[in-house]
Amino acid sequence: MIGRAARRRCPRCGGKAFSSYFTLRERCAECGLRFEREEGYWVGALVINTAVVFGSFLVLFVGGMLTFWPEVPWGALAGVTLGTMAILPILFYPLSKTLWMALELSWHPLEEHEITAAANVADLPPKS
Ligand SMILES: [Zn+2]
Repeated sequence: MIGRAARRRCPRCGGKAFSSYFTLRERCAECGLRFEREEGYWVGALVINTAVVFGSFLVLFVGGMLTFWPEVPWGALAGVTLGTMAILPILFYPLSKTLWMALELSWHPLEEHEITAAANVADLPPKS
């Protein structure tokens, strides 16, 4: 599921999850899975995105500081770090959603009503 998520695909079946780079479909085009499983579902994706951005700060700023100490080029280091922290959450946005779906599905498998609803939409026999 993580491999499918890393390719911005449906974690359940590998079908198309996005209609454009940033636009998540309501349901998987292949298996009919409704991506937003409950209200507030995307808070997990926000947490993942925030953690990735914070990780980039640690790697770039703290790593750069340790690498260049004591002659730290503060201006360049701050510029690279801030630039990355401004762009990364936007570029990572789709992946944060598919990764969250894969993680959440791994500890919260689909419930019977979700399987049935997905099958009805996809016009397929139910499968888990
Ligand atoms: Zn699917």
